Amino acid sequence: SGPAPPARIKKLDATVVNRIAAGEVIHRPAHALKELLENALDAGATSVAVTVKDGGLTLLQIQDNGSGIHADDLPVLCERFTTSKLRAYDDLTRIATYGFRGEALASISHVAHLTVVTRTADSPVAYRAQYADGNLVPAPGQTKPAPKPCAGNQGTLIQVEQLFYNVRNRLKAMKPANDEYHLVLDVVARYAVHNAQVAVSLRKAGAGSVADVATTGGGTPADKIKIVYGAAVAKELLSIDDTVAHDCQMTALVTNPNYSTKKFTFLLFINNRLVESPKLKRALDALYAPFMPKGMHPFVYLALTLPPHKVDVNVHPTKQHVQFLHEEEIIAAIRDRVLKELQSANASRHFAVQT
Ligand code: ADP
Ligand code: MG
Repeated sequence: SGPAPPARIKKLDATVVNRIAAGEVIHRPAHALKELLENALDAGATSVAVTVKDGGLTLLQIQDNGSGIHADDLPVLCERFTTSKLRAYDDLTRIATYGFRGEALASISHVAHLTVVTRTADSPVAYRAQYADGNLVPAPGQTKPAPKPCAGNQGTLIQVEQLFYNVRNRLKAMKPANDEYHLVLDVVARYAVHNAQVAVSLRKAGAGSVADVATTGGGTPADKIKIVYGAAVAKELLSIDDTVAHDCQMTALVTNPNYSTKKFTFLLFINNRLVESPKLKRALDALYAPFMPKGMHPFVYLALTLPPHKVDVNVHPTKQHVQFLHEEEIIAAIRDRVLKELQSANASRHFAVQT
């Protein structure tokens, strides 16, 4: 007998390839929202309003007052690798925008129903366009796909409906709507703190729903922490502004040992990107441990600025993980700097160090 003959190798259908790729970029509503928020910020918006239904699975909507999108660009908007932000590979070393891959809207259009309403400053009307699998699709009542003139404010409204309707496994992997909502809330809250100049709101869809995040534009990250995370955190913050190692500039708001909470809230931005660094998180948590009751943790907002050529934002499509040079040394330097601040706060205010 022996093994069965091999199955023959065939090229995958483009739609299948794109749907798989989309799943790599968009894991859950909060990821889609992060991309949409970043697009709004890239477009220079000073106001961003997010509306969510069923944790973002039924509806994820974001309205900004940014530049809008040129009507002539709407036909290619959701094609993969179409972008207004990157032209040449070398631009990556000095990229100042969040986006650059031209993958987000394309990905979303492959796993959800996507509608865009947008108006630029010099256009008398807005345009409405609907997308599926990377392409414009005819609106109801239309035969040919084309952006349709309509009324609308300057800026862009993006509606993502029925996320993962065509990716059953991904849909099954979703948490209950309320948990997904909290992940969305987390992303919105973090951007609201870091982008203090932008008015950010988040609400659940439905008449009479109260906004869960509502900031006005202006003020400082400390002001936003008070609004978003509450006065109990805000009144215990120590502020650090320093250059630590390898030209790493750190701006931080960290709680003093008076404050402790069950869950470590760690807001980390590297060159304005919301990222995660489990290593840095562990280092900070360990640093605070002697100052905290057992099992309790601090609140840390940390914004690092590194010379762009020392940061590689290109490591993963979600851009959630960035790699930077001299990571170990920089983490050690940040830890030392925060420790110094905690110790001086401790010395001046006589906090009890737990033993
Ligand atoms: P990227 O951000 O990497 O360029 P995206 O798929 O996220 O890719 O967006 C594609 C393009 O669509 C952007 O380069 C930008 O020109 C335009 N765009 C997307 N969202 C907005 C928005 N909210 N306002 C203005 N332009 C937008
Ligand atoms: Mg983008």
